[in-house]
Amino acid sequence: MAERILSTESRAVRRYTTCGELRRQHIGRTVTLKGWVHRRRDHGRLIFLDLRDRYGITQVVANPAHSSAAHEVAEHVRAEYVLAVTGQVVARPEGTVNPALSTGEIEVLADQIEIINPAKTPPFPIAEETDVDESLRLEYRYLDLRRARLQRNLLLRHQVVRFIRQYLEERDFVEVETPMLIKSTPEGARDYVVPSRIFPGHFYALPQSPQQLKQLLMVAGFDRYYQIARCMRDEDLRADRQPEFTQIDLEMSFVDVEDVLELIEGLYTEMFERFASKPLQAKPFPRLTYEEAMRRYGSDKPDLRFGLEIRDVSSVFHDTSFGVFRSVLAQGGVIRGFAVPGFSDATRSQLDQLTEIARSFGAKGLVWLALQQDSGHLTARSPIAKFLSEDEIAALAQRLQAGPGDLVLLVADAEDTAATILGRLRLHVGRERKLIDESVHAFCWVIDPPLFEWNEEEQRWEAMHHPFTSPRDEDLPLLDSDPSKVRAKAYDLVADGFELGTGSIRIHRREVQNKIFNIMGYDDNEIERRFGHLLRAFEYGAPPHGGMAPGLDRTIMILAGESSLREVIAFPKNQRAQDLMLGAPSPLDERQLRELHLRVVYPEDEATNALA
Ligand code: ASP
Repeated sequence: MAERILSTESRAVRRYTTCGELRRQHIGRTVTLKGWVHRRRDHGRLIFLDLRDRYGITQVVANPAHSSAAHEVAEHVRAEYVLAVTGQVVARPEGTVNPALSTGEIEVLADQIEIINPAKTPPFPIAEETDVDESLRLEYRYLDLRRARLQRNLLLRHQVVRFIRQYLEERDFVEVETPMLIKSTPEGARDYVVPSRIFPGHFYALPQSPQQLKQLLMVAGFDRYYQIARCMRDEDLRADRQPEFTQIDLEMSFVDVEDVLELIEGLYTEMFERFASKPLQAKPFPRLTYEEAMRRYGSDKPDLRFGLEIRDVSSVFHDTSFGVFRSVLAQGGVIRGFAVPGFSDATRSQLDQLTEIARSFGAKGLVWLALQQDSGHLTARSPIAKFLSEDEIAALAQRLQAGPGDLVLLVADAEDTAATILGRLRLHVGRERKLIDESVHAFCWVIDPPLFEWNEEEQRWEAMHHPFTSPRDEDLPLLDSDPSKVRAKAYDLVADGFELGTGSIRIHRREVQNKIFNIMGYDDNEIERRFGHLLRAFEYGAPPHGGMAPGLDRTIMILAGESSLREVIAFPKNQRAQDLMLGAPSPLDERQLRELHLRVVYPEDEATNALA
């Protein structure tokens, strides 16, 4: 009779033994294992089967001298067959103990092997961590999910979510589910919509986030809400985006910026100390204002794992004889740059390449100076060397904290343009020169961003975060005079150069909210049509409130050391928003369309049509 062994950590009741739990102390027992054939090795007389489940791998031996029936079955078994194996736990012979396996001290001598289900040869190997074409992995995701990497990542995800729930629940947060079929919530992306059968021509929107609902929960008095929330945005996809993704969505009442930052920083500090394989670069997390992040790193999500800090050097050149710099400065532009340590020996082709790359980022040109020591003097090898005085070179070096052996890169342009070009160039050089310290995780906060940004195409102000974000109190008067200068009570959490999430203190008074919508160009009718429900709620006693929504997928991606979100999502979409396993999106049949009162007008454009 097979015995049941319950693993010490688990109280799961199973009528069989998992492939990860047998140890030396179980020697002598008879057990039944169930699982998949990971590998099969035929040594002529003996056949070894590695049986796998999500708990581990156990070696099974089929010895014809012990059970010819079991050996007979083992001869026909192939990789990924599902088996039930009954046999005795025995010690592995001297010299064959495998310390890499938790079950490596024992093996199971098969009395009986039952093939529960055979398997076709999988389209890619499950047991090996070989590179496989991603489309194939996505099409056969259930097989990909059997492989060690995704098992590891999904397990990590589960553990992190459990930790998040516990952390928030210990702090009085209540988990509330919000609906999927809602009305459009503006988070800056296109909505996915669902047609109504009952109301022809009417549509639900899938939530871009539960933003308005969580605010309404604050009006309802829930005080501290959270949800592991699914969000849907119909965006053009980049490598680190998915059309549906998960947020750690939370909201709190009677709080200000500091309270939210403290809560989230505590959450992430504990989470990374518990689950990450690398330490945090700095605790507490450095805080940068948006203005500072743009000025020093040319990015609102600066990667602080390396230096190459950008500095403004305009003042060095106020008397310059170099025409390009002079005219940029005369037009109110800036000269900014950074020094690359030890790169003064850059070759001509490396420098040409850097210039090309800066151009591809929108630069009109890139000025480089290779600093060197010349009989006690600091000099520069540079296409603009003849325009530079010794004093200018010295002042430049001092500003950029550079010296002989370093390469200086400068961009002269309008302030915002120079900042973003240099930000991208900084990242490029940091990666190319391997300056990024990959042994740590570097978090930071970026706070006080502008409330609005100008939409050139539509010629109107739009909310930089979302329109429910509160302006900073001291900037309220600027709403009328200069909206561009109004800063928001908003914050971004950044890790290793990724934006992990944004949040803000919200507007909780109707008149302020109205005013923001007005500045964004909505008239009263449109405000009522789109946001009437929220504004009405604010008239019934809305507490001050604020929150945040860090991205769960990205968090796990960083914790797992992966570079694509698809590696940490069980069933992701590809970069064209397709589910290759299910074959979605797919056409509806005529009857479904009729029921929904829809008719499809196919685009003329062949390229778009090719998919249909
Ligand atoms: N709903 C916001 C977002 O999805 C986050 C927040 O403000 O809490 O970015």
